[in-house]
Amino acid sequence: MRTPAELDDVDALVLPGGESTTMSRLLQVFGLEAPLRERLAGGMPTLSTCAGLILMSREVLDGRPDQIALGILDVSVRRNGYGRQVESFEADIPVVPLGVAPFRAVFIRAPLIEQAGADAEVIASFGSNPVAVAQGPHIGLCFHPEMTDDSRLHQLFLDRAAAALEVSAA
Ligand code: GLN
Repeated sequence: MRTPAELDDVDALVLPGGESTTMSRLLQVFGLEAPLRERLAGGMPTLSTCAGLILMSREVLDGRPDQIALGILDVSVRRNGYGRQVESFEADIPVVPLGVAPFRAVFIRAPLIEQAGADAEVIASFGSNPVAVAQGPHIGLCFHPEMTDDSRLHQLFLDRAAAALEVSAA
């Protein structure tokens, strides 16, 4: 999805990992920031992971001063809060809506959620920090769910997105 016209064709959006400062810049260069904000205000469901979560958050710490925080997820995140690339790690983490079988979470230069506000439901934590939140039609993850064969979080997103879109179509 690179242009405002392509955004029009999308019902729900995955904001993937990558580099949030670059993604932020590209949103501006391609004229996507305003249309994206508009769609988000209209309730478009999202799954955001890692750099995507940073873009979706209310507050970005240790970011570039001009980087976009879309302010949808009620979280304050610290970029690279788990350390540098070499400090990337994996952990088996229980995720509340997924039941007892833990999720293998792959953290790659991951953002640290320092604070989750009342609007963000924490659905998984690692140590004392949230690593997954759900908020209305949105799911935000500090880790990369696409790095394993476990598709439960993608399915959860699809289920929640479908439910949200059904309600808004009704
Ligand atoms: N550290 C990256 C950033 O600030 C995120 C890393 C990732 O998406 N795996 O955007």
